[in-house]
Amino acid sequence: MNKGIILGCLQQNPGWQGALGALNPNWVNLKRSGGAHKIATFMRKEGWDIEVLDYWLAFEEHEFKQFARSRITQDTKFIGVSVTFGYKLDLLQRAQDHLKWLKEEYPDVTIIAGSKMLVDIMVLPCDYYVCGYGEYGLIKLLKGEATITKFQGLNCVMADRHHPCFPSKDLRVEYEDRDFIQPTDTLTLELSRGCKFKCKFCSYNAIGMKGDLTRDMDTLYDEMLSNYERFGVTSYHVADETTNDNQEKIRFAGSEIQKLPFKPNLTGFIRADILSTREDDKKYLAEMGFWAQYYGVETFNQTAGRTVGKGIDPDKLKRGLLDTKDYMNKHCGRYRATTSLILGLPYETSESLYDGLNWYREHMPNENLVMQPLYINRQINELMFASSEFGRTWRQSGHFHPEEIKEEITAEDYAEFSEHPMLQGYIKNLHSEQHNLHWSHDSYTWKSAILELARTMQQGLYDPRINRIMTWDLFNFITPGTYDYDSVLELSIMGYDVKKLTEDTNTYIKNYKEAKLNA
Ligand code: SF4
Repeated sequence: MNKGIILGCLQQNPGWQGALGALNPNWVNLKRSGGAHKIATFMRKEGWDIEVLDYWLAFEEHEFKQFARSRITQDTKFIGVSVTFGYKLDLLQRAQDHLKWLKEEYPDVTIIAGSKMLVDIMVLPCDYYVCGYGEYGLIKLLKGEATITKFQGLNCVMADRHHPCFPSKDLRVEYEDRDFIQPTDTLTLELSRGCKFKCKFCSYNAIGMKGDLTRDMDTLYDEMLSNYERFGVTSYHVADETTNDNQEKIRFAGSEIQKLPFKPNLTGFIRADILSTREDDKKYLAEMGFWAQYYGVETFNQTAGRTVGKGIDPDKLKRGLLDTKDYMNKHCGRYRATTSLILGLPYETSESLYDGLNWYREHMPNENLVMQPLYINRQINELMFASSEFGRTWRQSGHFHPEEIKEEITAEDYAEFSEHPMLQGYIKNLHSEQHNLHWSHDSYTWKSAILELARTMQQGLYDPRINRIMTWDLFNFITPGTYDYDSVLELSIMGYDVKKLTEDTNTYIKNYKEAKLNA
């Protein structure tokens, strides 16, 4: 039987929103690789023997070699590298070293990296690079049937364009005993693939889609039951771009999940504007155990919201958030909101920004907030980078001044934050990132949005010392066993036991490595 190995690893420190500059940038995150396990499930159905190695960048050189030597045989045709957000610093070096060694030792084994964008994988020494949802792209590549696009000498398979795998009915993921899944793991679940909306800042490929995007929902119950009975797993990240894009989907999921012999904990993206206008969404989400909800609110200013394709009446939105909070606390016993705002949308004003922030701090004090300036990628090479509608059309849109401006951060700007050297460093780094367009409109510029963001931090409206842990981040504190769901909801981003979490995470990874190396 043909064999393959897929390597997965996410580089990200728990509580990554906090403690500017004080985190371990080489932290190996305990998130299982959703992409690696999905591709593995698909390939097994195609008749392949596929093993996944999670946390491969936590393996020291001798451990990685030991693993590879114990697994690679003449039947091994490929080694895949599943990348979520790219690698940097020491982990990038380790990834490059491991892959170079693999190629030298096993020149006949094809090394294939996969990620959403080429920019995240092109620094890895591989034979091929698959971009986008990769199931069909990979199998076609291995059969010699894929469309290969050359970019800067690299062999790329632009899967979303030439071998698209969205939407898809078959989104079930199956794990194997040799994955050593633990009861505290948070696994990835897909209920649908692709997004029917088209927000103007969004750089995701599968947006604006029509028709039914849902999976075969009849397999949902079995998938979750099997993971519970075999491994004791009760927690999931739902990978859907918008879990409540389709009420029938969440209604059905709620009714299936209620039949399970356990109460799950689900996390994912929710459109708060839909939640606030469609009465039963929160009921079905509660039935699903979907109490950790990430909202792309973007702004509390209706005109600014309309500019990006949203634009609900802010009073209605606020009422919807408060109702949902009460409902989830009552029916799930827990709630965590992450509200994500974009600072600097056209028509946002300082007044509407601070009104929204003050409301959030007053009425959602135990929740999480994520803020970022309006990023517009000036690179619109679609082969390499994902680009947004704003990125393609900002100049003609009428919402921005038509020319880029060059504004330096001055000594006077820095002086405003003289008591916060970390903030000064943050401003400097953000402002100097090469790929960001220096846009401007009547109320903000790229520079003034960054300074405003720093101001909200300085004023305590966006302060990691009080900001609670983000929905997607909760598992980092649960999986190693350091906290349970009740205690983690009390923590602020910077208020956790770093020493204990580090020790527990290291122990988790050590146990995983031992299990894999002795299997
Ligand atoms: S931001 Fe979310 S809802 Fe909007 S188009 Fe992108 S994926 Fe869809």
